[in-house]
Amino acid sequence: MTSKKQNQSIFFFGDGKADGNAEMRDLLGGKGAGLAEMSNAGVPVPPGLTISTEICNAFFENNFTFPEDLKDDIKQSLDEVGKIVNAEFGSEDNPLLVSVRSGARVSMPGMMDTVLNLGLNDSTVAGLAKQSNDERFAYDSYRRFIAMFSDVVLGVRRKSDQDEDPFESLLNKQKNFQGVELDTELSIDSLKELVMQYKDLVKKELGQEFPDDPWEQLWTAISAVFMSWHSDRAKVYRNINNFSDEWGTAVNVQAMVFGNQGDNCATGVCFTRDPANGIKGLVGEYLINAQGEDVVAGVRTPQKIYKKDRTADEGLSLEETMPNSLTELIQVCDSLEQHYGDMQDIEFTIQQNKLWILQTRNAKRTGLAMVKIAVELAEEKLISKQEAVARIDPEQINELLHPVFKNTSKSDPVAIGLAASPGAAVGLVMFSAEDAALHAAKGTSVILVRDETSPEDIEGMTTSEGILTARGGTTSHAAVVARGMGKPCITGCQSLKIDYKNKSIAIDGHDGVIIKEGDMLSIDGTTGEVMIGALETEAASLPEEYLTLLDWANESRNINVRANADTPEDALRAREFGAEGIGLCRTEHMFFGANRILAVREMICADNSSDRLKALEKILPMQREDFAGIFRAMAGLPVTIRLLDPPLHEFLPNSKEEMAELANVINKDIKFVEEKVESLREFNPMLGHRGVRLAITSPEIYEIQVRAIIEAACDLTNQGVEVFPEIMIPLIGTLEEITFMTERVHNVASLVMQEKDTTVEYLLGTMIELPRACLIADEIAEHVDFFSFGTNDLTQTSFGLSRDDASRFLPDYLSEGIFKVDPFVELDQNGVGQLVKIGVEKGRSTKSDIKIGICGEHGGNPPSIQFCAETGMNYVSCSPFRVPIALFAAAQASS
Ligand code: PEP
Ligand code: MG
Repeated sequence: MTSKKQNQSIFFFGDGKADGNAEMRDLLGGKGAGLAEMSNAGVPVPPGLTISTEICNAFFENNFTFPEDLKDDIKQSLDEVGKIVNAEFGSEDNPLLVSVRSGARVSMPGMMDTVLNLGLNDSTVAGLAKQSNDERFAYDSYRRFIAMFSDVVLGVRRKSDQDEDPFESLLNKQKNFQGVELDTELSIDSLKELVMQYKDLVKKELGQEFPDDPWEQLWTAISAVFMSWHSDRAKVYRNINNFSDEWGTAVNVQAMVFGNQGDNCATGVCFTRDPANGIKGLVGEYLINAQGEDVVAGVRTPQKIYKKDRTADEGLSLEETMPNSLTELIQVCDSLEQHYGDMQDIEFTIQQNKLWILQTRNAKRTGLAMVKIAVELAEEKLISKQEAVARIDPEQINELLHPVFKNTSKSDPVAIGLAASPGAAVGLVMFSAEDAALHAAKGTSVILVRDETSPEDIEGMTTSEGILTARGGTTSHAAVVARGMGKPCITGCQSLKIDYKNKSIAIDGHDGVIIKEGDMLSIDGTTGEVMIGALETEAASLPEEYLTLLDWANESRNINVRANADTPEDALRAREFGAEGIGLCRTEHMFFGANRILAVREMICADNSSDRLKALEKILPMQREDFAGIFRAMAGLPVTIRLLDPPLHEFLPNSKEEMAELANVINKDIKFVEEKVESLREFNPMLGHRGVRLAITSPEIYEIQVRAIIEAACDLTNQGVEVFPEIMIPLIGTLEEITFMTERVHNVASLVMQEKDTTVEYLLGTMIELPRACLIADEIAEHVDFFSFGTNDLTQTSFGLSRDDASRFLPDYLSEGIFKVDPFVELDQNGVGQLVKIGVEKGRSTKSDIKIGICGEHGGNPPSIQFCAETGMNYVSCSPFRVPIALFAAAQASS
């Protein structure tokens, strides 16, 4: 509904009413429509008028002249405005001053900036001095107005970026002349002098006097706003954004109100709820007899709104100084919340006991406040439950799950890397996983610092508070494992030069700074910042409202969320967070346990299949226990276990001692082991002998894993535990690879079930993580029950970008805008996403009910989750600590 009268060009707002409303953005611009909306809602905004976009277009059509009655209409409207604020435009005793602003239907950089205090001249400035009882303030406002008007409206400004602003230059000269440092130290006479100098400057530049007549000032300002619609900057912006030249801009002329006209005046900022913890009630700051900028400038210490919030030595609260204004403020704030249905951040001014609201907007808040406020607003029936869920920024939930550094304890970072896993960690620097584990065992907090990590570092990683690597991207081993454990981690921190021999770190750009083993370090995995010393942290906690909100999210969610978890503990944690199964259990870490690594190495060194099998049989009972533990933790829910993926050389020993130990066990000399290690070395291990390729050359490895899975599943079934195993083959690229494997997997599974005389329902599926697998997904689908998109490898292979090495140049790609975001963090929907779509479509074309999910790191990234939901996947799977984020993102994607 609009209330536009025929040919109406001026739209009044103020005094609890308005000619326009929120829906009239096209005619009134965003700002004008917003002011009208507030006024209609009964909010005491300083009154004013909006000149419509139609008038702007008419101005251009009429050869840059105003339509006939415009000036009269504006005069009439300003009369009304003046009555409300008890002032008169152009009056020498009681001048009404106004601001003039542009306002297109969308906020547009390139348009005219604001002019404040329009209406001042040599006579009205005296009126302002009298009213405010502050001559200094009046002349300071006057000289600022002349500078602002001359720059914005008359175009008197610096000629090039190298020049000093001409008004600044005069101001600085005046300060030098007076021997003062700050603007505030200038005397009234100096300010008067400056006013004259400013005017002379304008005359010199333009060959005409600065307009003294307030009406002339106003007409010139309005014309300037219109003209700014066709400024070069505005045109470029419209072109880029495909906005039409026909829109035009509106102009807002609004009464200035002052909080600095005596002790019955004040200015302040408040929130309707506490932005730190979400608790309902006004919090904020104000100052008596002050201007808006005084509150933020820090010259005077702002005072609290309520008495209960101030200490004995703080200034009086608004409750004590202006109780009536506070009552009014509470009412207005309440109605603003009701109107906008969200917590508001409000700027107000009290002029001679009259409350004015200058601005209101939805307030920024912490993760804790976000959750609490969303639930309470729904309980107060201000918004629906669905809206409460939609209000959640899933990424901000991170704040509730991980410790953060206290704001007060922040210090400058000495290095910045990739924010690989969120949270704050503090500990002593250790350079090896063994040292980390050793110190942690004594109860010391440790930060593990390495060039990169590998699966054998797992124990040291588990016991460290945080992990910092100089190399590797956001899907490197360190990143993936740390995220899984919910530990803070920074990767790709290139400026660190780690010297393992001397156990020290030098930092590029910080000559002379050396971090040694045992030094205290603080790392922020949320921002990627590394700080020397121990910063104070704040523990994470989930508010009780979180569970309510999660229930609401689950009501609308139609895509499942699983977790990537490799241990029963991680699985249990994921389940507590709401995971509906395991989408990826990587089995490689299980091979590193102290009691099994030797058997694994024996298996790798075996010359023939039967020796290999013998070694594997030593591992079998342990693997069976691993799987049983995870099945138990996930009883009643599906568990996808991926068969071994990494290249075998990762399991071989690096040190002489370990090689000698292995040689001893397998009855060979150390040279044999050294040669074996050498022979398994690869130039491109990521594209090498890994994934299903391991099982093509040594099928026993997968066969023994399948045996362990099905034996565990049978045992638990017999104990009455519900198990839903899903066996997954990694890195499939050809149909023949999958048929080679499916036959063997099914054979082993049937054999075990026969031996155990037990039946378990299991699924057999494949990862889709190579482009070729996407392209032949229709053929693959005929042989499997499910697909899980491994978008880490799919991103790597589609871009031809190494997961482990990309961090060397990724920062440049990001800063140059070649990548908008790290493609290992957010799925590249245009490229990699197209392959995913092809994979899904082709898979479903031959098997319509094939179960499809994603288990790459993108499974925990909200925009990627949205994409997965749109593509029709059944589930996303992500690290346990991202499950809560994924649950909300999935609910939002479903609605
Ligand atoms: C993947 O490639 O997306 C995946 C989940 O497997 P990994 O990260 O273990 O290679
Ligand atoms: Mg992979």
